[in-house]
Amino acid sequence: MANVQPPRLYNIGPAASIPGQQCMVANRLGASIDIGEAIISEAPLVHMRVGVLIRNFDFNTWMKRPTTRPKIQRKFDGLTPAQQIAFLGLHPTGPGATVQQKFFANAFSEESRYTLGENPTPLQRNVTSLLVFEEISMINHSCLPNAVFAWDSERGLATVHATQQIPHGQEILIEYDCDMTFLPAATRTPLILQELNFQCVCPLCTAAINTADSDNRRTQLQVLDTAIDTAWRHYRAGTWQTNVTDLEQKQFVPMVNEYYNLLEAERIMDIRLVDALVKAATISQNVFRHKEKAIELLLKAIYWCVTAYGDTGYFLDRHDLQLGRILRDVDMTT
Ligand SMILES: [Zn+2]
Repeated sequence: MANVQPPRLYNIGPAASIPGQQCMVANRLGASIDIGEAIISEAPLVHMRVGVLIRNFDFNTWMKRPTTRPKIQRKFDGLTPAQQIAFLGLHPTGPGATVQQKFFANAFSEESRYTLGENPTPLQRNVTSLLVFEEISMINHSCLPNAVFAWDSERGLATVHATQQIPHGQEILIEYDCDMTFLPAATRTPLILQELNFQCVCPLCTAAINTADSDNRRTQLQVLDTAIDTAWRHYRAGTWQTNVTDLEQKQFVPMVNEYYNLLEAERIMDIRLVDALVKAATISQNVFRHKEKAIELLLKAIYWCVTAYGDTGYFLDRHDLQLGRILRDVDMTT
């Protein structure tokens, strides 16, 4: 019997909110895509190396370099005719739109490995290569996403997993740039236009809903993000007892719980969530000897890791190993 492919969970079609632009829409007839489901898994059309590791990579500066334009052209020329047609179908599609403009509008950056509990905050942009996809590049940005993008460099595949229930016909949306997440809408919206060259049409950026609650949560998230990171650095450096006040120590786990609740309210269900939970679990057990709390936090971390990055292959292996290491580091004997 022939190998039957499961039906696709999405369609590519015109975006209702952005005239002339395509988008990806949930397409499970009569039902939603569930939280944690893999919506798409796709190999890139173009995979361009930009360096071994570029710290604080600035895409706009890179695009303006004189060597960039011919480099993109050579990549395009190396595609098969069918791939070239797919590439030319990417936004912008108006007359005179160049290969470089399409690359600029559709590239995802591959960033260096994210090691749980070890990354600086805010995340540095350690970019190693740029990726353009025939279908994933059709997914638009929202500051209130319902899905998350991940790149598996070992299999050469990108995945997008649902982080919210997505009803049939609803647009699938991801967050493009993590650096701007915690800014209030009035600052974030113009920055998205300036840095990413598009006007965000999400409910927050268009003020279709009141942004005050979201702005407060994001401002608080930024404060918590810094506080968690500072406490974590002291824990790792062995300066927890001397540099973290009693009050701050007592507040550490409640602070991470608050961070979790605020991220959930803002629909930011990505690696930042997993990272904060792992830090809190480690400190709960190793500092406070609170085993039940540590296990509860680790289970939440594993749940979101599998939800956002899938239950097979690279991401689970990678984060599982890290979670396994942390579990070993967490002294469960008391
Ligand atoms: Zn927005």
